[in-house]
Amino acid sequence: MLKATINRFSPLEPQVRIRRMVQRWGSCTPTGTITLNPALVQAAPACIDYVLAHELTHLLEPAHSARFYQLMTNVMPDWRHRRERLATAAVRWS
Ligand SMILES: [Zn+2]
Repeated sequence: MLKATINRFSPLEPQVRIRRMVQRWGSCTPTGTITLNPALVQAAPACIDYVLAHELTHLLEPAHSARFYQLMTNVMPDWRHRRERLATAAVRWS
């Protein structure tokens, strides 16, 4: 599933790195470097895919605009559910 998500965006050749972050699950630079929070290892694969899809979508649309959320819905129709599931689970880790 993770591989499938990455493959969908592979023409963009994103670089991925891991770094501790206090308030974010991930981030994405304009040059295509995606940073993921190592705390995500505790998350369900569906939720990790959501974070990846979110950051990868930033390669196509930097802002959280209407277009951004439309792109997210195209690639992952249930992203809102996954985001909520991640937020609910994360309360137990902190
Ligand atoms: Zn974002």
